[in-house]
Amino acid sequence: MNNRRGELFVVTGPSGVGKATVLGRLMKIISNVYISISATTRKPREGEIHGKHYFFMDRNEFEKLIENDRFLEYAEYVGNYYGTPADSVEQMLANGKDVILEIEPQGALKIKEKCPDCTMLFIIPPCFSDLEFRLRSRGTESDEVIAKRLEKAKKEYEYVDKYDYIVVNDDIDKAADEIRCIMLASRYRTEKRKYLMR
Ligand code: 5GP
Repeated sequence: MNNRRGELFVVTGPSGVGKATVLGRLMKIISNVYISISATTRKPREGEIHGKHYFFMDRNEFEKLIENDRFLEYAEYVGNYYGTPADSVEQMLANGKDVILEIEPQGALKIKEKCPDCTMLFIIPPCFSDLEFRLRSRGTESDEVIAKRLEKAKKEYEYVDKYDYIVVNDDIDKAADEIRCIMLASRYRTEKRKYLMR
């Protein structure tokens, strides 16, 4: 993979679909991939670690980063800001690592505009009603926030056609393996072009 620039993958999925679990599983079966760590003004959930799951900050800090143009994209989601730090993503891509952005559709479309070569994946549950069950069993959000997240999920489905691939998370290993296959196929598509130069 010498001198290779990394590829950008955007993964979106409604709240409760199990994105983090699937991506965690993916990281065990693929190499040379970095999952971007976003900044957010949301409060940490139990077990979430600053700098590992998110960079947690207040609105002032976040808005300063917006002013200083430090985000590749950012969006508001259910009352909080979420943004992709530009520097770390660029550094990883320049080092030849593929980068996954796990972001919602408004941000995903901004990325597509800026980086048209990115590959966009949308993860869905086998059935929409699974989301409510999963969000309630997670027990991390109030009823009000769950209702807002489900409302948001319905709207997010309207963006599915903008994505290159749909992955159904009916089985974590299967979903992770499908994403791995999509990523490998994309690497092959771009990687082999270098032989044309020889
Ligand atoms: P959660 O609060 O459940 O961790 O994330 C809420 C939503 O924000 C999810 O759809 C997640 O994909 C999205 N998200 C996380 N980080 C970012 C980001 O940096 N930018 C954007 N646009 N969305 C993000």
